Amino acid sequence: MNLQLNNNIALITGGSAGIGLAVAEALAGEGVHLALCARNEARLQREAKRLQSTFGVKVLPLKADVSQAEDIRTLMADLEAAFGGVDILINNAGTGSDETIAEASDEKWQYYWDLHLMAAVRLSRACMPLMKARGGGVILNNASICARQPLYYEPIYNTTKAALLMFGKCLAHEAIKHNIRVNTINPGLILTPDWIKTATALGQREGLTAQEYLDRLAKSYTPIGRFATPEELAHFFVFLCSPLASYCVGGSYYVDGGWLNVVN
Ligand code: NDP
Repeated sequence: MNLQLNNNIALITGGSAGIGLAVAEALAGEGVHLALCARNEARLQREAKRLQSTFGVKVLPLKADVSQAEDIRTLMADLEAAFGGVDILINNAGTGSDETIAEASDEKWQYYWDLHLMAAVRLSRACMPLMKARGGGVILNNASICARQPLYYEPIYNTTKAALLMFGKCLAHEAIKHNIRVNTINPGLILTPDWIKTATALGQREGLTAQEYLDRLAKSYTPIGRFATPEELAHFFVFLCSPLASYCVGGSYYVDGGWLNVVN
């Protein structure tokens, strides 16, 4: 299948690890040039070099904390200077939380709001004129199954991801007038460094190793009984980026091994 993505330019937030890195690899395999952003510069540079030499596409590493408006302004200026525009924006950077509503501070709420929602708002607003100038584009938001079906140890994560899901729906309505397709993907259990960190912390509380915690979680939550690899999920992102997904607009797609427990 020719996905018709060759020579497109994609900006992926959180493109140096986990899901973002797997999407970067899958897009690079289709001949897409990449701008990847993350905070840890050493890891970002290492992965950017590896992708560039493996796939022969241009890869621009952009050190940025997307929860910060100023970092987004700098990132966009560097992206425009290097590539002159962008076709695909993947709003992916994010992380789980762990708190009770009774105890979490305003500052914690604000950080996750900025990371999960405002980063997508600011980047979409900045990328849309560039996409418009190229005749269209694609914006994908990586929310979570928790946007609809919460995990109760992370109320801030659930709430801010639910906001991202609604933002995607509203943006899709506005953006399609300019031939920009916006969709949101809601992954279930994807085995990434973020889950290893969470399983290590939560497993310790119950005297379980990270692996024991992950196995129990996958078996009790998902009908499929296992985590997905980031690569299994990345295929779906790439398809939604492709012109072959031309009628997919404003959607909210679950890739969750059957975990969502309602008819959507
Ligand atoms: P990882 O922790 O494995 O990777 C996160 C990536 O985002 C890294 O590249 C990290 O780099 C970057 N990142 C984190 N915070 C920031 C920031 N403030 N600014 C810029 N970059 C940042 O996470 P996952 O791959 O597991 O998760 C990716 C997304 O998928 C998240 O939004 C998550 O909520 C969502 N998701 C994940 C699921 C899963 O099961 N794994 C399920 C559902 C949704 P660095 O630390 O260097 O900044």
